[in-house]
Amino acid sequence: MTKCPQCGKSSIALIFWGYPGGNIEAFEQAIENKEIVPGGCLIGNDDPKWECNDCHHRWGTRDE
Ligand SMILES: [Zn+2]
Repeated sequence: MTKCPQCGKSSIALIFWGYPGGNIEAFEQAIENKEIVPGGCLIGNDDPKWECNDCHHRWGTRDE
């Protein structure tokens, strides 16, 4: 189980980079469930992978 390295909470969301194609409803539902957070459409070279739902700290490395 992934935990926030800053506050230690385990309420973690995966940062979704890029534009959500296909099932927008499932995408929005996952945001509501705090399973993912939209990272935006601009993808850089050192984007984080996780965001803490508690303190909003971001860390990790985005998967290619
Ligand atoms: Zn945190």
